[in-house]
Amino acid sequence: MSTYHAPLTDIRFALHDVLQVESLFSTLGFDDANRETVDAVLDECARMCEAVLAPLNRIGDEQGVRFDKATGAVTTPDGFKAAYDQFAEGGWTGMSAPTEFGGMNMPHAIGICLEEMIDAANLAWSNFPLLSHGAVNALRHHGEDWQKEVFLKPLIAGTWTGTMCLTEPQCGTDLGLLKTRAEPADDGSYSITGTKIFITAGEHDLTDNIVHLVLARLPDAPAGSKGISLFIVPKIQVARDGTVGERNAVRCGAVEHKMGIHGSATCVMNFDGAQGYLIGQPHKGLMAMFTMMNTARLGVGVQGLGLATRAYENALRYARERLQSRALSGAKLPSKPADPILVQPDVRRMLLTCKSLTEGGRLLAYHAGSLVDSAELAADDAARKEADDLLGFLTPIVKGCLTEWGNECTYHALQCFGGHGYIAEHGIEQLARDARITTLYEGTTGIQALDLMGRKTLQLQGAGLRVFLGMIERFCAEHANDAALAEFIEPLRAKAGEWQALTRSIAERAAADPEEIGAAAYDYLFFSGYVALAYWWARSVAVADASSRPETFKAGKRETARFYFTRILPRTLTHAAAIASGPASLLSITDEALDS
Ligand SMILES: Cc1cc2nc3c(=O)[nH]c(=O)nc-3n(C[C@H](O)[C@H](O)[C@H](O)COP(=O)(O)OP(=O)(O)OC[C@H]3O[C@@H](n4cnc5c(N)ncnc54)[C@H](O)[C@@H]3O)c2cc1C
Repeated sequence: MSTYHAPLTDIRFALHDVLQVESLFSTLGFDDANRETVDAVLDECARMCEAVLAPLNRIGDEQGVRFDKATGAVTTPDGFKAAYDQFAEGGWTGMSAPTEFGGMNMPHAIGICLEEMIDAANLAWSNFPLLSHGAVNALRHHGEDWQKEVFLKPLIAGTWTGTMCLTEPQCGTDLGLLKTRAEPADDGSYSITGTKIFITAGEHDLTDNIVHLVLARLPDAPAGSKGISLFIVPKIQVARDGTVGERNAVRCGAVEHKMGIHGSATCVMNFDGAQGYLIGQPHKGLMAMFTMMNTARLGVGVQGLGLATRAYENALRYARERLQSRALSGAKLPSKPADPILVQPDVRRMLLTCKSLTEGGRLLAYHAGSLVDSAELAADDAARKEADDLLGFLTPIVKGCLTEWGNECTYHALQCFGGHGYIAEHGIEQLARDARITTLYEGTTGIQALDLMGRKTLQLQGAGLRVFLGMIERFCAEHANDAALAEFIEPLRAKAGEWQALTRSIAERAAADPEEIGAAAYDYLFFSGYVALAYWWARSVAVADASSRPETFKAGKRETARFYFTRILPRTLTHAAAIASGPASLLSITDEALDS
């Protein structure tokens, strides 16, 4: 079975040393989020993840959720409900929610750290509380006062959970195709009819009520994505005064059998004239849903990170224990029948790839988490806008890159185990299967890439990119005369320049041919992700060197940064070359020739 020990030393290094969140939190008015409290919260969450959630990971995979066709009920694997009750009673469901509605008002940046540990411990289980965060955010920003009053408290307390109901059989990425209908009723509510598929936590036995946030069309809706509205549809009806009534006309019709996250309920949901309430303005549902989706996109990016950390921890332990072959330069452990595989350069390549992508990725994700706080609470408009621009730019990078890297790391970790990784005993194949969904739901990697390239870069004229390039420029200027950092500063400065030039050249070519955007998007996403990580690695070395941390820790950061700069950052060369080649090599081949 795979184990999980929360990497608290690196989590603290990222939060306190590199991001210096304590001073940020006090500027933003989080008076209770001092270092002592944050550390206590991290310790407690780590304990729960290691002792309660991680041991259920294998059980969830083996049992899966069970569906009763006669009643539409879904039963979660053994132990999931008890763990959820403990989680909700401990206040974890409301950790970064406002105190006004019963939350703890911890910064979002801390919420992201907790999510990393929870996801690593048990990804399938983590999906039950995950979407409640998004529902809370959508309601906070777009709900009417009575809706906040009635729905936020139980969602934050965890006595109810939330869902996000977008997908329909004919409507996945392209939400303009959705058909679910909403008819106005005499009492001001709406009657919702349609079928949603793939709904995470659509039905389960963890809470009494489930609050579905459903996209549907009003009778006078314009066609396409401009005619979509958002509705709250509780499983058990809830009146405007909060009174809980009858069972609503919404029912789970089936659960999907899938490659991974077997313990997560992926449901077909049939709405058959179910009572719902409009959230926000008619036909403006996508905007409200985007509030929820952005929260969820960061959350899914962190799922990739969590799985990568767990995969790395297990692969490293195994590589130390597994004795096979000798080091090429001669025996390292002559008294043993063979050396540990850790001495082999190829095994180290795989492990260091995981270490560099996870520790760098952690900073990328936590920084984005801190921007959620700054975008909402920074003192002046300019600072809030700057944080929001950067957050918008980084969100597809966090979702797209961290989930693809999560898959890459679970792949490398499995490879380190050899054939023992392919069999179920060590639990590594489960991590690889579970990781696969993260690049698909909440918008595939291709869609994240288009969002980054099209909307966040070209439409917004590179507003977020400019902020990030400014951070790199200031860092490089600050360390211009630091000889110990020169090996990182020069390549980082050069890559930042290439990033800017690449963006400009895509924008120019896209003005003449829009296909350039689609052809460049994926490679641009990864070019951006690798340069962003180069910045965080260079900064990690600078911060570690200046700290009082042990020499082994400093050396670990410096050597991993060296590995990153020499063996991972050059991947940008391939991405830049692919972008330069333009759309011709993708579009010139005819459809007939594809199978000739
Ligand atoms: C386990 C699981 C849980 C899920 N949970 C939820 C949930 O809780 N709520 C919910 O509403 N949905 C949920 N989904 C649905 C999920 O979000 C969709 O599967 C996903 O958005 C992709 O849609 P699709 O599967 O229809 O693929 P399609 O949209 O058919 O896409 C197929 C392929 O075409 C590509 N593609 C499509 N359009 C474009 C384009 N314009 N440009 C470039 N490439 C494109 C995609 O990137 C993808 O590679 C879940 C799915 C799964 C499997």
